[in-house]
Parts: sequence; structure tokens; C-alpha cells
Amino acid sequence: MPDPVSAEAPVRNAVRGRFRLREYHVTTVDDPMALPAYEALCVTGEEHNCGAASGILHALDELTRWIAEHCALTGHQHYEQTVRAILRAEPGAWQ
Ligand SMILES: [Zn+2]
Repeated sequence: MPDPVSAEAPVRNAVRGRFRLREYHVTTVDDPMALPAYEALCVTGEEHNCGAASGILHALDELTRWIAEHCALTGHQHYEQTVRAILRAEPGAWQ
């Protein structure tokens, strides 16, 4: 059963409009408080994807376990993995 809590709306970062171009350095934050977040979505299926989702998990071995259990139950073998990371943008000079 997919966990309804996992059905988060996608974050939309697209910004429309006219802005001056500023240079940013974007780095991955190596912060022990920022838990990594992984999610798997079962995309097995001919006409429709199965769509079962693991929900947000914080360890790759938990993700692997969810996939193994789902595969054992259903025989489904194709999954899409999402990895969420925290990034830090450091503004540079205006161009
Ligand atoms: Zn499935």
C-alpha cells in the first residue's frame, strides 16, 4: 500500500520573469542534521505504472528493503528512485 503521506506536491523552482543574471555557487550541504531522503516509485507495468511508492526513507538500505518486499509480493522489477539533497546557494557578483 502506498503511503498517502508520501504524495507530496513537487517543488516548483521555475521562476518566470526578468531578472538580472547573478552568479551563484551551489554546493551540496554536508550537514549531519539534514537527513538524506530517498524514495522509490514502482514503474513496472505495460499500460499503467504500478505506482506503488515507498514514501520518504532516510537510508538506502531501507529503500532496498522496500523494493525487495514489493518485488517479492508482486514480481515488479522496475523502479524510479528519487534522492533529495540539501543544497546551498552562495550569491556571487552581479553580472
Ligand atoms: Zn509495483
